[in-house]
Amino acid sequence: MSQFAAKRLAVVGLGLIGGSLAKALRETGCVEHIRAYNRSAQSLQFALQQGIIDQACSSIGQLCEGLEAGDVLVLGVPVLAAGPVLEQLHPAVEAGVTITDVGSTKSWLVAEAERVFGEAPSNLVPAHPIAGSEQYGVEASRADLFRAHRVILTPHANCGASHLERVRELWLACGAGIDEMTPERHDEVLGATSHLPHVLAYILVDLLCSMEQRGEVLRYAAGGFRDFTRIASSDPTMWRDIMIANREAISSRIDEYEQHLDRLKAALEDESAEAIQEIFERAQATREAFLKQSEQSS
Ligand code: NAD
Repeated sequence: MSQFAAKRLAVVGLGLIGGSLAKALRETGCVEHIRAYNRSAQSLQFALQQGIIDQACSSIGQLCEGLEAGDVLVLGVPVLAAGPVLEQLHPAVEAGVTITDVGSTKSWLVAEAERVFGEAPSNLVPAHPIAGSEQYGVEASRADLFRAHRVILTPHANCGASHLERVRELWLACGAGIDEMTPERHDEVLGATSHLPHVLAYILVDLLCSMEQRGEVLRYAAGGFRDFTRIASSDPTMWRDIMIANREAISSRIDEYEQHLDRLKAALEDESAEAIQEIFERAQATREAFLKQSEQSS
């Protein structure tokens, strides 16, 4: 059971994730007042009408007005927008307010906080919910998005224990399970499990659409193509930011992927059915084990 309770929740960037968090906390009743600032005012109007938020703010200054120790401010913006937002928050937000984020890369946020504040402030707790979809915008938000999903907290060296605990309780209140690792480790792991698959899906679709016979190729694309490329429907801006912010880890994973492709290519050239079978059997067994493990933990 979560002990989380707060007077005010403030969200900068009320999209799929920020909106889902607002909805989830609203549903639990553990937050008294929810306010948000978003670049697009339309999203705020929608959220007000739907009762997702109580107050639409016209600036970050207004969002921070009256926030006190114990309140929580969440950055729900695309990864590269976090630095400019921190610049505006720096003079405006009271030091006792817990600041957290939901971004898909973590070292970038810590580096941006160091640039803006001189050192990463003790009230900043970087976090990443491992839940979402290829949809975006507050219109797609769901109160149950994080239920039975993991959230990775990535405290930096100066992270305050009470702020870390508060963010842990916040996510527990949304029904999520919590893991903790360093920002660097997070970026390596997610570079492999999330960022590389998006690279592959985008590149495969890009390859097919650059082919001369593209119309014919896509006409015969079946379920396998649809399954493999679903995530290429994700928001290009969000994924552009993730690529830039985690470029080193992603580049290394692409190098490793190329080595594995070369191994398969060599097996094809050698007509080595045995080598091909071995690679496919290993991959199939690994995926089966992954599915079993996911079923057990859900
Ligand atoms: P989204 O596009 O649905 O929402 C982002 C919102 O931020 C939009 O409403 C946009 O108008 C607003 N915004 C952009 N720049 C802004 C600025 N400078 N100031 C104020 N508002 C601004 O995106 P999302 O899917 O909710 O992703 C938000 C964050 O969550 C990203 O950092 C992403 O990496 C992370 N994340 C996404 C997923 C996913 O599956 N979508 C999962 C986990 C984490």
